Amino acid sequence: MFEVILKGHDKYYGVSDVVRMFFGVPEELKDEGKVTVADGPDIRIVNELLPDGKSVTYADGKTYEFEGEILEPGREIKRSLYMALSDITSVKMPWGCLTGIRPTLVASEEESAGSLEEKYFVRPDKAALAVETSGEEQRILSMVPDNSLCIYVGIPFCPSRCEYCSFVSSDISCHMDRLVNYEAALEREIKAVASYINRPVATLYVGGGTPTVLEEKEFASLLDCIYTNIRIAPECEVTIEAGRPDTITDGKLISMRDHGITRICINPQTMRSDTLLKLGRKHTAEDTVRVYSQAVNMGFDLINMDLIAGLPYENASDHVDSTRRLIELAPANITVHTLYKKRRARISREQVMDIDKSRGELDACVAESYRLLEEAGYHPYYMYRQKDTGHGLENTGFAKGDTGSLYNVAMMSDARDVLSFGAGGMSKRCFKQEGELYKHRVERCPTVKDALTYIDRVKEMAEKKISFFGF
Ligand code: SF4
Repeated sequence: MFEVILKGHDKYYGVSDVVRMFFGVPEELKDEGKVTVADGPDIRIVNELLPDGKSVTYADGKTYEFEGEILEPGREIKRSLYMALSDITSVKMPWGCLTGIRPTLVASEEESAGSLEEKYFVRPDKAALAVETSGEEQRILSMVPDNSLCIYVGIPFCPSRCEYCSFVSSDISCHMDRLVNYEAALEREIKAVASYINRPVATLYVGGGTPTVLEEKEFASLLDCIYTNIRIAPECEVTIEAGRPDTITDGKLISMRDHGITRICINPQTMRSDTLLKLGRKHTAEDTVRVYSQAVNMGFDLINMDLIAGLPYENASDHVDSTRRLIELAPANITVHTLYKKRRARISREQVMDIDKSRGELDACVAESYRLLEEAGYHPYYMYRQKDTGHGLENTGFAKGDTGSLYNVAMMSDARDVLSFGAGGMSKRCFKQEGELYKHRVERCPTVKDALTYIDRVKEMAEKKISFFGF
């Protein structure tokens, strides 16, 4: 059993985050003051926070402490623990001791890539990526006025469940009636809240799930409802997640075009049809190409396409080949995700972590994808990480020219208010804090996750949001 004893602090969360990167899902035994991994190596270490704010980790007769600037306690304890675990395992993580979902936030606080490397042990290529992306995030965020609102509309249904998915989405093959009722409830919520909105809407994102899973009639009705009830200025960025090519029809594309949708997402995830089939996605790579061409021919010039590196049933070069094929299609945005594992997904953590049984393979194929994208004229414009991402890597959105998504940046920044409609949505209010340039204080207002409960309680959900925003 692997054990970390906490001394002088109770930062279980931070300790767990570092332990998870090396040994898998930990258990926090707060009564015993420790974090353990039952099937980890037989090692017992102590992670201490001293009264002067410095952290020291003791392991196997050695002492690990950083000589230099003391960080705030949450980061300080992770740093000395990371130093110990990296030494014990001889593994250096690409993001060093940074475990949070927003490495670009840390980059924005530091003077240079060099200080990310020195203070947090971030690898030079990742430090440079974080600094470049952070600059672009700040530029894009400045285009979203402080007092504006970002709106999210969620459709938590999909035509089938992808094997790697952890999202709270329902497979509509067995819930068709529920989908129609859900869409009607969503319209009720939008109508109830929209008339109270008293500030400009900078971005609107219809996501899921797969919004294009709605039949053409309901899909058009939802767009009518949005455009009739919410004041959407011509400069507002409106994105529709048309994720699954098998749900996109001419009729839905025409609906989107006629309503003035500016950005759509068509997500292949991989360009290997056999992988798609094994993952439970009911489309082929050829479907993706066909639908993409249809959309381009209809005049959509701002299309995002998502890829996932580290999928089961694939080796590293398959992902690089998929990147090459998307670059040939030349969408404005390509987002490279690294597979991550959450509780509800059908694939196992081992499948996520064991691509080619090697950390280096996944790392190298993501680096090669990035290189190809930059060579083809794309640049990184936003980035985030998720817990249990394969080998501690990240997800990065790439854009050509000035096409980076305002919504993606604003949403991840936790610096702009988000009003969420639909089951599982999280509305946020973000408040500037004295002395903090980038880090806002965030208040959250969740919506019930279950679609049926949402349908039953939609009036209450609408009232809760009106009160939360003080409209
Ligand atoms: S399309 Fe997306 S939300 Fe739907 S099941 Fe697949 S991964 Fe999950």
